[in-house]
Amino acid sequence: MIRCFLPILALLLASSIAASAADGETQVLKWKDGKKACFLLGFDDSAPSQLKNVVPELEKRKIVGTFYLVTGNGVWAGTKAKWEEAAKSPYIVVANHTFTHKGVENAEGVEPELAKCNEVLYALHPERKQPYLMAWGKPGGVPWIVSKDEMKAALERNHLIERPPFAGPPINYKTQEATLAVVDQALAKGEMGYLVFHGVGGDWLVTPVEWFTALLDKLEQHRDELWITDCASWKKYTSERDTAEVKVVESNKNHIRLSLTDKMDPALYDEPLTLSTKVPGNWKSCSVTQGQTKTTAAIHDGVAQYAAVPGASDIVLQP
Ligand SMILES: [Zn+2]
Repeated sequence: MIRCFLPILALLLASSIAASAADGETQVLKWKDGKKACFLLGFDDSAPSQLKNVVPELEKRKIVGTFYLVTGNGVWAGTKAKWEEAAKSPYIVVANHTFTHKGVENAEGVEPELAKCNEVLYALHPERKQPYLMAWGKPGGVPWIVSKDEMKAALERNHLIERPPFAGPPINYKTQEATLAVVDQALAKGEMGYLVFHGVGGDWLVTPVEWFTALLDKLEQHRDELWITDCASWKKYTSERDTAEVKVVESNKNHIRLSLTDKMDPALYDEPLTLSTKVPGNWKSCSVTQGQTKTTAAIHDGVAQYAAVPGASDIVLQP
């Protein structure tokens, strides 16, 4: 008899805690803009079919992709000008896939492979303040004889972050259905999902254009639930999020002041986090000020949602 009341009691307790959340109580949301899950698209080897069949589609649909470029081989020499043009798009994010894709036989071989590729990638964006973080994808099918520690140090020296292990069609996902199911899995789990491609409609390890188009259609259908981003932004957000600490400095009916810090280097980890803060019941909307940045946040169910950068000035919310 007593047992069956326990779940109800637990429920009542939980709901009364939620209702009594103090003004100023703040959470860092799991994914940017409060999205349900995250998705990354990657493209390897600077394959020319990507210039023809991927770049224009991503631009048209405003979907971000990470392009793991090899910048010191013959394929690159023949397409360099087109990649330089493509990299101007905010949807085409470049990343390091080594200079030659020939692999390395020892730790000494790593540095030039990473650094020489970085040099070409940095030249694509002279306007950016260096250094900044880029993603790195280990080349497949070639020797890579380097210890874990040596690799970690080399990546850090070159401000590179390692992407998740390779997974993509047609190698790991043999059908269109299996490829699209990766999106459903990410949504069902509320986690990050990703797919990496080589050739699309041509070149090598080819994914048919129809599969790719169906995938983009599906991503567009779920746009409201998915944070579709590049690999470095994903890494920055999750690293900042997982080490973030929010403190309520001051909270009253006229304003809320918060401090947001994390354990990452602010020069490299500069991705804004999405925060949600409980505000007084009579606030209809609020201004959010952090240093020189001022925005307006809508309030839903007594909670304001907005972006803020860890390690910068205090955040001030006012009705
Ligand atoms: Zn490759």
